[in-house]
Amino acid sequence: MKEIERAAEIIAGSKCVIALTGAGISVESGIPAFRGSQGLWTKYDPMEYAHISSFMRDPEKVWRMLAELYEIVLSAKPNPAHYALKELEDLGKCTAVITQNVDALHQRAGSRKVIEFHGTGETLTCLDCGRSYKVDDVDLKKIPPRCTCGGVLKPDIVFFGEPIPPDALRESFELARRADVLLVVGTSAQVYPAASIPEEAKASGAKIIEVNLEPTPLTNTITDVFCQGKAGEVLPKIVERVRGLLKT
Ligand code: NAD
Repeated sequence: MKEIERAAEIIAGSKCVIALTGAGISVESGIPAFRGSQGLWTKYDPMEYAHISSFMRDPEKVWRMLAELYEIVLSAKPNPAHYALKELEDLGKCTAVITQNVDALHQRAGSRKVIEFHGTGETLTCLDCGRSYKVDDVDLKKIPPRCTCGGVLKPDIVFFGEPIPPDALRESFELARRADVLLVVGTSAQVYPAASIPEEAKASGAKIIEVNLEPTPLTNTITDVFCQGKAGEVLPKIVERVRGLLKT
């Protein structure tokens, strides 16, 4: 595929490559994305279940969905796309991964610099007293899980209607402005403000390389190289080619 060659050439010749990942990168790990007609989201409407007002109104209802999602996420393993980004970091060609995902699979693949734009499912906070829990210490079979004080626990993921963690927001946009290349993987680019990161990078002079099964609103507007296909197949090929180019 000539797009893979082109993407690899751009990455090999760049100083600051930043990856922006979305739910699509974890689909091959068995975690369904929001968009597309897969499993979990045919049963639960994400716009309804992922809104903070739904959680506050009826935590038990939202926790039934979260418990199913946790069951999938906690048994999921990184796939070749996550490992490819880790390898790119080892080659000095991925300064940071900004992820919208809450599944911690980049960290489990070994990526060291990961910004969790939408928080994490690894920890939970009591809505009453603010005590923090690791997910491994919480019995997710009790719905909703509660703190020792009796308060409901909420995962530290950013629900629709909640603000982005300020440090993640600031750092992500700083990186977007510094990037020579933004490698956008498996995101529909429809959830804001994350979807502004590619716009910010482009406006600051970065090349945009996109890896996705389908075109997105970025593809025909700001994307320079569109590599259509599964992230778990395309990214390892790009990285293999980058490694080859760096040796020559
Ligand atoms: P999205 O669900 O809106 O879009 C997923 C995108 O990935 C689509 O454009 C789709 O074409 C693409 N895709 C699907 N399979 C792919 C594959 N194998 N290779 C490459 N691309 C593939 O996801 P989003 O843009 O990230 O926005 C949804 C929000 O919900 C984000 O905050 C997201 O992180 C969160 N979410 C997270 C998880 C997770 O943590 N794994 C799962 C579901 C939703």
